[in-house]
Amino acid sequence: MAFGYSFVNLSEAEKSQRRELLDLYAATAQWSILIVFAVFQLSFLLSWMLEPRAEERPKSPFGRPPKLKGPGWIAKAQHLPRSFSWWAAAPVAEGWGTRAEWIAGLVWTAWLLFLSFYQTGNDYLHLTKRFGIVGASQLPLHYLLAIRSRYSPPQLLTRLSHEQIKTAHQILGRIITFMFILHASFYLNFFVMSGFLQKRIKDLDVIFGVVSIIMFMAMNTTALSIVRKWSYKVFYTMHIVFASLLIIPLYFHVHHIRKYVLEVCVIIVLNQVLRAYSLRTYSGTISMIPGTNLVQVRVPLISPNKETKWRPGQHVYLSRPTGAPTSFGVYEMFVLRNQTNPFTIASLAEQDKHLLLVARTLNGNTKQLAKLARSLHSQDGVEVPSIPIALEGPYGSTSRLPDLTKFDRVLLVAGGVGATFIVPIYRSLVEHEGHSFRNSQPRFVWAVRKFAETQWAFPASRGEEDAEFGSEGVQTDNEVEVCVTQPSGSDLQGENADDGMELAEAEHLIPFEEEMEKPRKGMVLRAGRPDVHAIVDEVFTTSAGSVAVITCGPRGMTKQLRESVGRWVRQGREVYWHNETFGW
Ligand SMILES: Cc1cc2nc3c(=O)[nH]c(=O)nc-3n(C[C@H](O)[C@H](O)[C@H](O)COP(=O)(O)OP(=O)(O)OC[C@H]3O[C@@H](n4cnc5c(N)ncnc54)[C@H](O)[C@@H]3O)c2cc1C
Repeated sequence: MAFGYSFVNLSEAEKSQRRELLDLYAATAQWSILIVFAVFQLSFLLSWMLEPRAEERPKSPFGRPPKLKGPGWIAKAQHLPRSFSWWAAAPVAEGWGTRAEWIAGLVWTAWLLFLSFYQTGNDYLHLTKRFGIVGASQLPLHYLLAIRSRYSPPQLLTRLSHEQIKTAHQILGRIITFMFILHASFYLNFFVMSGFLQKRIKDLDVIFGVVSIIMFMAMNTTALSIVRKWSYKVFYTMHIVFASLLIIPLYFHVHHIRKYVLEVCVIIVLNQVLRAYSLRTYSGTISMIPGTNLVQVRVPLISPNKETKWRPGQHVYLSRPTGAPTSFGVYEMFVLRNQTNPFTIASLAEQDKHLLLVARTLNGNTKQLAKLARSLHSQDGVEVPSIPIALEGPYGSTSRLPDLTKFDRVLLVAGGVGATFIVPIYRSLVEHEGHSFRNSQPRFVWAVRKFAETQWAFPASRGEEDAEFGSEGVQTDNEVEVCVTQPSGSDLQGENADDGMELAEAEHLIPFEEEMEKPRKGMVLRAGRPDVHAIVDEVFTTSAGSVAVITCGPRGMTKQLRESVGRWVRQGREVYWHNETFGW
């Protein structure tokens, strides 16, 4: 055999000692995640200790202030980790994840491999079994990382958002697949070389093992971004179905891994309970925004209620509405739980007294949503009827955003529908009474293809109809810079839109564009793409202090923004950076 390993004959005592070592190192692999969680707690403690005792400032909607400045040595000590995190958050290559993700993934793989090799002697079968059981020990954590709820233990312990934790879930999925592939191929090699293949391939434990690995690999292959982009439905269905079914063949494969399988079952139940707790049915309206391919979903709120406490920039999962006016049957309940898409809450629930979602029409559920919006509109003529709308949430990272008023400058940059994330943050900053900015008001630049795409944030008139929703839209003397990149003609993001809808929307377009040509209160209009480089330079040169940059938009735009901001980070400037992405 190779690398010092060979097929060895063991006595019963040696076999039971091997079993003990297998269980010991699998348990070590499973519980070593506690060290990672402990490191997080230590870093929270350290940053709390380094935090200068803040002077009293007005209460912010974003929670605790960041640690911006301290004595000279603290500022210097803070610069090093800041430059490192900026470097680590950069992608290794387009679509290949960040450096930090690769480093974390490789370190964890190396640790699991160490636990697989350590104390295996020259026993080939010991090593083979170790790959399997160490891989299986990671399954409970893998399922735990998939929990969406804000009560998910990894989220509570790391204070990371579900979107960030989801990346860890993906990486761990790949590592487990790798361990299982090693386990299966080492066994296959053993069966072939020892002449047992014909016999063993018919045994139930081997059959269940093969089925498990095929299912696990299918789950991971369909989770690759190429498949997710091709059909999110295929990915999601395969993932959910296989994730639930996988536990059956795994349970019957070998009894040593049953405790991990049972832990997975508990986590699946916990996930369902937490999701059910976050799911609520409202009554609201769905309509198209004229001249665009945007669908708006409005849910009036009867205050006071818990939704008014939702933070700006959080998102909810919208279940595909059936349009049925009555209560839900079994099929509707299934749809409710499984055909969901995330959308950012574009309103300030507390002020506006309603939840607003704005969805760009693509090819899946959003296309059905647009169809429903159009059919509801034509059914009743003018009045859009209210229908049951199921929302699950709120979720999202903004509860972890620092207090933006503490920064010397704040730059907000949105592209297209990405403004659903930025507008509420901007509004909560400029409209919140008692906010004092260190230096100047935030600068908000919003690039859109069509001027019509801005109307949900800047309604034309606030007549009686709007009065029921309270004070809606941007209301401030500070001006949002709206850059319209394609001022005329119909493009309606045709790549994915359905032709019928495109034509129908185009009919509205010309008179509508004429009507919209004058800027609304709270905005200044510019034609063409924003000069990201010049905007960043203006923000950084007009202040020598800390700068917060928050962005949400097309990948190209945010990439350019990051490059421009990066030049200032490298010069030692204190920067808080948050890039919200609408996809994964
Ligand atoms: C946190 C978050 C907030 C978002 N907020 C908004 C918003 O306010 N307005 C808006 O227009 N869009 C938003 N999006 C994007 C939006 O969720 C997707 O564009 C939408 O789900 C596409 O639906 P579809 O079924 O028509 O997609 P398809 O046409 O089937 O697919 C189009 C693309 O959307 C991706 N996608 C589909 N379903 C999902 C899903 N459930 N989760 C993640 N990606 C998916 C697919 O991978 C594919 O790349 C947000 C996404 C995230 C993750």
